[in-house]
Amino acid sequence: MSFTDQIIKREKSEALFEEAKQYFPGGVNSPVRAFKSVSGPPLFIKEGQGCRITDEDDNQFIDFCCSWGPLILGHNNALIRERVIETVKKGTSFGTPNRLGNELGKLILHHHPYIDKIRFVSSGTEAVMSALRLARGVTGKSKVIKFEGCYHGHVDSLLVKAGSGLATFGVSTSAGIPEAFAKETIVIPLNQPEALEKALKEHANETACVIMEPVPANNGLLLQDRSFLQYVRQQCTAHGVLLIFDEVISGFRVGFSGAAGYYDIQPDILTFGKIIGGGMPVGAYAASHEIMGHIAPDGPVYQAGTLSANPVAMAAGLAALEQLIQEDFYERMAQKTHRFVETIEQFCLDRGYEISFPHIGSIFWIAFSNERILASDQIDPAGMEKFKVLHHELLQRGVYLGPSGYEVGFVSAAHTDADLDEAAEKICESLEVVFA
Ligand SMILES: *Cc1c(COP(=O)(O)O)cnc(C)c1O
Repeated sequence: MSFTDQIIKREKSEALFEEAKQYFPGGVNSPVRAFKSVSGPPLFIKEGQGCRITDEDDNQFIDFCCSWGPLILGHNNALIRERVIETVKKGTSFGTPNRLGNELGKLILHHHPYIDKIRFVSSGTEAVMSALRLARGVTGKSKVIKFEGCYHGHVDSLLVKAGSGLATFGVSTSAGIPEAFAKETIVIPLNQPEALEKALKEHANETACVIMEPVPANNGLLLQDRSFLQYVRQQCTAHGVLLIFDEVISGFRVGFSGAAGYYDIQPDILTFGKIIGGGMPVGAYAASHEIMGHIAPDGPVYQAGTLSANPVAMAAGLAALEQLIQEDFYERMAQKTHRFVETIEQFCLDRGYEISFPHIGSIFWIAFSNERILASDQIDPAGMEKFKVLHHELLQRGVYLGPSGYEVGFVSAAHTDADLDEAAEKICESLEVVFA
């Protein structure tokens, strides 16, 4: 099969996208969905079952985007669906405490040894925003150190990139962010202990926290050495600065206790999202009893939410997480992902393609390089042109990847070995076109 053999129909998606442009900026409600860095109109998906999604033109795809990570159990998981339906029948939200919230809180805290207390919110961004306020409230300091190449949602003070130099004040990457906010953020590169050392030496007395994705997975998959993460932990402790692990992607993904458990590193505050809601809008932040004691109504740090911990979202999260604590769940996920990636890797190695597939647990990334990539400035933008061709070829063959080469792929429990073999074969075929 070659580039022109088969062009899937996209007429209905195209028409719906044209219509959507009248209603939403760029036709979308979240920017990457617009397919700006790949070809064709975005696909309008009407159904998902297991590891497959179907678009409005009735094309079917094996899905590795999985709603950007939440669907670790695949689409339309029966236990989540039934629990949600049962709950919805009794009403969707009361704005009061409810039993399902207790059950989800208890399940998480019981199986996650790095946290004592948790607060539910409604998105990952909200979790991060609240965690920053908490860190500032606890320390009485205001600056934040973040790493270039880590994404933490669309929080004002974190939509910043590094200026010039090793440890610099942030420059905002979005319009509408006051310079004063960006100035509260110091941006340093990943994998460079000396940059962190310098930033802390100069600014520790005004810095509330260091925030990082312990598994940076929003700008490629920039897997760090455990020794670097340990160094970050140690430096934060030494300088009286709190460490926030943003585990919105890695939480409940690389293990039930996320990256904290995977690397066995104790952060001061953790943030969650994505998987925690079983496909519903849920986020959370969590920490020790002592730190969480600063949150209202116990303490002076205010944070609230009209729909926080509503029963439907809690039911979905509970039905999802109950399946993740089953024996060997994460081992099996990691094994099948590794096997899938290795098949493709071997094919590429035999042909001498310049490509590699960093992976951890059930997360993988396609890097158009044979170097190990640990920081965002090592990513060659030329690889994104190759990704564009790959993405197109894969859609023709029935495989759906997130529409950007900077995005990672997710394997779900619903991807069987047979599904993964089928996908691997299609990926190899498509790579032959990419490298032809
Ligand atoms: C997705 C993500 C966020 C933002 O979560 P939303 O639910 O999209 O607001 C924050 N941090 C990380 C690490 C993420 O992957």
